[in-house]
Amino acid sequence: MRESDDITVCRGVGEKTAQTLRKMGIETVGDLLRHIPVRYDTFGEIVSVEEAESGQICAIRGEFLSAPQNLRTGKLVRTIVSFGDGTGTVRLTWFRMPYLKNMLHRGDRRIVRGKLMRSRYGITMEQPKLFTEEEYAARQKTLQPVYAMTGTLSAKIFSKILRGALDSLEPRPEFLPESLRVRYDLVEWKTAIERIHFPRDEKEMLTARRRLVFDEFLFFLLGIRRWKEQREERHNLYDFSRHSWEEQLRAGLGYELTGAQKRVWQEIREDLEGPTLMNRLIQGDVGSGKTVLAQLALTAAAENGLQGAIMAPTEVLAAQHYASFTELYARCGLPVRCVLLTGSLKASERRQAYVAIENHEADIVIGTHALIQEKVVYDNLALVVTDEQHRFGVHQREELAAKGQEPHILVMSATPSPRTLAIILYGDLDISLVDEMPVGRRPIKNCVVDTTFRPKAYEFLRKQVEAGHQAYVICPLVETSEEMEAENVLDYAEKLRASLPGLQIETLHGRMRPREKNARMEAFQAGDIQILVSTTVVEVGVNVPNATVMMIENAERFGLAQLHQLRGRVGRGQAQSYCIFIDASGDAEQNRRLQILGKSNDGFEIAAEDLKLRGPGDLFGIRQSGNLEFTIGDIYNDAQTLKEASEACDWILKQDLDLTSKEFGPLAREITQRRALEPGQVNL
Ligand code: ADP
Ligand code: MG
Repeated sequence: MRESDDITVCRGVGEKTAQTLRKMGIETVGDLLRHIPVRYDTFGEIVSVEEAESGQICAIRGEFLSAPQNLRTGKLVRTIVSFGDGTGTVRLTWFRMPYLKNMLHRGDRRIVRGKLMRSRYGITMEQPKLFTEEEYAARQKTLQPVYAMTGTLSAKIFSKILRGALDSLEPRPEFLPESLRVRYDLVEWKTAIERIHFPRDEKEMLTARRRLVFDEFLFFLLGIRRWKEQREERHNLYDFSRHSWEEQLRAGLGYELTGAQKRVWQEIREDLEGPTLMNRLIQGDVGSGKTVLAQLALTAAAENGLQGAIMAPTEVLAAQHYASFTELYARCGLPVRCVLLTGSLKASERRQAYVAIENHEADIVIGTHALIQEKVVYDNLALVVTDEQHRFGVHQREELAAKGQEPHILVMSATPSPRTLAIILYGDLDISLVDEMPVGRRPIKNCVVDTTFRPKAYEFLRKQVEAGHQAYVICPLVETSEEMEAENVLDYAEKLRASLPGLQIETLHGRMRPREKNARMEAFQAGDIQILVSTTVVEVGVNVPNATVMMIENAERFGLAQLHQLRGRVGRGQAQSYCIFIDASGDAEQNRRLQILGKSNDGFEIAAEDLKLRGPGDLFGIRQSGNLEFTIGDIYNDAQTLKEASEACDWILKQDLDLTSKEFGPLAREITQRRALEPGQVNL
């Protein structure tokens, strides 16, 4: 079979299994092979109860000290038993497994493995796995891949399907030239794919992973650098010489631009009025005021009779930009016509928007990916802006640019990547830094606390609301889940309403329809909602300056960059703002990580500290959400591989810019195939 074959050609995949696989995004044999483990379970040395660390997965050898008991609360049955090894006693609990009661007996010896917790209530372990001495010894030698799965498919069956696919895959030529593989010590692709799924030991897994990460970075870099070559030295086709509206807009802002904003705006203006096209990245921490720079540039386009577009990664953010742009234009008395284009518009509204864009009845088009749909035809698109660029694929930026005849490009990102990495990742762009916060902002006050702090936190929320402010509470889940123990938006909002009667508390999450989401967000913006209990849908860009508290439940479940983004939703106005990180893990390591945020409000500093703490060995730690979304590689942990891929990319393009020679033929084919596969990236 081939990679492009439908998944149903695999042995053991009937229509039912195929459906489950499709839900996981697996349509073809190639998708199956590229569905690599999210992590590996390793079975470590057995420890005593005394030595076992709280919050860590561990294995303990001992015996049952009591007969198991089944306890009922409502519909839920728990089985509990006491287990010990002479150095201490652990209470084991299983949910919905009442039959265990008859299988386990007092005095039986086993090895139990699970996450051990120490608390006021003693030492506990939930849902432990049980092993005999022999079973455990056999497991200890292996790495067990763990896959992101949905539905009823078991890991065992998934592995079987994979094995079958790997064994009957048609051989195909290796696509990286031999010389490159030797220079960077990379295994063949086929070997890498095989070993990432079925590693015999950690070393095999790591070499496999390195090859796949290298590929991922290389393809990305080849993409942006070839594009850069094509665009470089393109002539600026547009006349941006009129700029009287700029003064009017700046006068209406109600604040003075910061020094950094002025400098960056100057750089943008020089690009727009210069002889060649602009390709510029604005990097600036959350809240540094990037939006107004985009609006200034777009206003310049409008004044000169040209069109501009700004693409945001979420509907919520697009709607917010639309509202703030139109409000400011009205206030300044500028005749700039904006139109909003998102996926949730009614068909008739969308048609209207298309007509307005094509007939140039709209100067500025604000929206989501809907901007790059085929049906959108611009009249003379001279400037495209992508906000929160790291949330988009590079191709989406290109697609938007392709809507115009060589438009100027401005991309904005709050990703705090160290400069050396930024130069590699955004090598196709000139970089401007907004490295100054607006004056009058007070630094956000932070605290990292455990769940016992909640009553005090709620009291604090009430006081802030009574003072006329608003608050966000973030939960990792939308509703209860069997897979993950963490707070969920729906139950939490109920709980909070009970604790804080009389306050307007509403929810926001990704399962709501876009229209509902927008309506909720507007109500929050208007102050009709006082506390918004939300998932991370508010992570990027949302701007409600009256909100002064950000409270994050299960903070231990998020990456630091993501937490920093979330925190950036407050501290946007004059009032003192607060961020409360609730750490429910009871784990010292997690707490140290969160303390970094407690101590600093600077995104760049946080990124550097985070890297130091995790060390480059932590390959499957919490992913740095908020960075360019690579599926396997992580720009921080795999920084060395990224540098190597960058070097390799330069070398390849120097040999053969168009990749037409025999040596690079297989590589060129692979690129074409992968591009065809590229999924639409963000969908919140
Ligand atoms: P980000 O860089 O995160 O996109 P925004 O552009 O959303 O930040 O700006 C955050 C807030 O700061 C907005 O309310 C904006 O109006 C305000 N702001 C921007 N520049 C200044 C400034 N120079 N002085 C005061 N407030 C500003
Ligand atoms: Mg922004």
